[in-house]
Amino acid sequence: MYYNISFDIAAILVLAVIAIGMSTVLYTDTSGHKLVRRYVYSVIICAIVDIITAYTICYGSMVPDPLNIILNTIYQYASVFCVAVAMRTILNYYPSASRTSIIINRTLLYAQAAFVTLNLFTGWLFTFEDGVYIHGKIYYIAYVLSLLVVFHMLVVVVKNRADRPATITRIIILFLFLPTIFTVIQMIFSSILLIAFGEAFSALIMLFALETPDYRALMKTMNELEIAREEANIASRAKSDFLANMSHEIRTPINGILGMNTMILRDCDDPQVVEYAENIRIAGNGLLSIINDILDLSKIESGRMEILPANYELFSIMNDCYQMNRMRASEKGLDFIMENDPNMPAQYYGDEVTIRQIMNNLISNGIKYTKEGSVTVSVSFSEDDKVYDPDRGEQGALLIAVSDTGIGIKEEDLDNLFKSFTRLEESRNRHIEGTGLGLNITQNLVSMMNGTIEVTSEYGKGSVFTVKIPQKVVSHKRMGDFDTRQKERVNSDIIGTSTFKAPGKKVLVVDDVKMNILVFTGLLRGTEMTIDSALSGPAAIEMTKNTKYDIIFMDHLMPGMDGIEAFHMIRDDEGNINRDTPVVVLTANAIVGMRSSYLEEGFDEYLSKPVEQKDLLKVAEEILGDR
Ligand code: ADP
Repeated sequence: MYYNISFDIAAILVLAVIAIGMSTVLYTDTSGHKLVRRYVYSVIICAIVDIITAYTICYGSMVPDPLNIILNTIYQYASVFCVAVAMRTILNYYPSASRTSIIINRTLLYAQAAFVTLNLFTGWLFTFEDGVYIHGKIYYIAYVLSLLVVFHMLVVVVKNRADRPATITRIIILFLFLPTIFTVIQMIFSSILLIAFGEAFSALIMLFALETPDYRALMKTMNELEIAREEANIASRAKSDFLANMSHEIRTPINGILGMNTMILRDCDDPQVVEYAENIRIAGNGLLSIINDILDLSKIESGRMEILPANYELFSIMNDCYQMNRMRASEKGLDFIMENDPNMPAQYYGDEVTIRQIMNNLISNGIKYTKEGSVTVSVSFSEDDKVYDPDRGEQGALLIAVSDTGIGIKEEDLDNLFKSFTRLEESRNRHIEGTGLGLNITQNLVSMMNGTIEVTSEYGKGSVFTVKIPQKVVSHKRMGDFDTRQKERVNSDIIGTSTFKAPGKKVLVVDDVKMNILVFTGLLRGTEMTIDSALSGPAAIEMTKNTKYDIIFMDHLMPGMDGIEAFHMIRDDEGNINRDTPVVVLTANAIVGMRSSYLEEGFDEYLSKPVEQKDLLKVAEEILGDR
């Protein structure tokens, strides 16, 4: 008897490719995947034994009968094992299959194995006589049992189809049918060995249809994620817009309160009232700084925080921070020391506002969390820490170290320090005001400038926050000692502001809130300028037609015609005598990047509400000084 083994060889080749593919990186190790791999190996063994027996049967006269019987028995066992693995694989997809189903399946498989064993003694399935393969009396029983196993599994799959999507169930039914069809064909044309080929087909189906991730589902999920991301962005933008609007709404009345309060502080002689007013000033400023923090955070989160580089003098940042914090430090009895390397360069190119904010946040924390001792700010510049930036060329590092002798931070808390809305040792620090946003904002600002921030701290003894920011040096002129320069500056400042007067100059203030106009007029009182006011855009336009002003302060947001519209009506009206008058826009809209957008709009300056007297006088002096 001759057998055609070409389908067996084809099956072995296909299965070998699958086995190599599966044992490399292509698939993850799920239980289904392991079973498929086991199925592939068992079919390969089956096909090899099938080929061997095909030869030994063919050359039967040269092979002793017992050896042929043993080889064919091994083949039968291998086939039963293959079917058993295939059924395990299917049961793995249907976890709801009942215990009875599993027992029936096993019984049928054991029965097959038992028949094969029995055959060794009875020859009921097959035997050999003088090298010739002879079918036994119940030869077909092996096939019938195999078909029974398949049929039973079909019933189990249909019964438990709810476990899997319909497509998967359809594929599993195909998986069951293919080897069966090939087995039946082999029964008819017994000289062509087809079963292993059918099983190789099944292995392919299992691998691609059942064990390969569904990339269509993956793509669908990715699309959904993209849509969700868009929606989240829209929501985040809505949140930022809401915060920006809220800031405007809150800052406007605070502007009124603090402005009025400044006048009480200035004009009132009753010490009790002055004390109340001082408390209003402290609480009002605290409220303002919380609003600013929340706004900054929302800007950072929505990616609207911009770094706007320009040339700046480092001394002026240090001086601002010094002025802003020295009162609080001395009220707490702390030494507040600002020191620098006098040989460091004086002028840099970078974002002055952001650096000031970083320095200020660290100083104000130092003061906040220190009961006694000192807060020291040390500033230096390191040419050795070179960073190359394609836009700005070579840069060294600006180093700002803020150290305090305060409460310190526990080692285990250092990781939580920079998280937003996180305050350490809440119960101990309850009496200290804070939102837990400052350091998060600071860290974000530092990394936006490609810098780093580090903390070292000894609990109970104090902390050191060190910031390193790449900055381009503009002028290598020596900065000089901060302390000395600061003292010179104080003297000139006192003389400067106290003498700024502009008698005869005419100012127009436009704001829809009457109280704001009162505040404004109060802040400018000492300058001896003549101050007119208008409560709306159209009223302002009317007034500019008749009186020539030296400077106009224009509120942005007003009902009806807003400040920008009114500004353009004045500028674009060829007959208006105030066409060239400098216009300063006033706004409570504290969004970053606003200044540059107002200047682009054509305004000459920008003042953020609540307007501070020193800022107002500085702007007025700068503008009027040029004329
Ligand atoms: P907060 O508004 O609470 O000050 P921050 O983000 O600025 O928020 O700081 C977060 C927490 O880190 C603070 O609540 C405080 O516990 C701790 N912390 C910050 N700076 C210091 C410091 N210089 N010394 C000790 N603890 C500090």
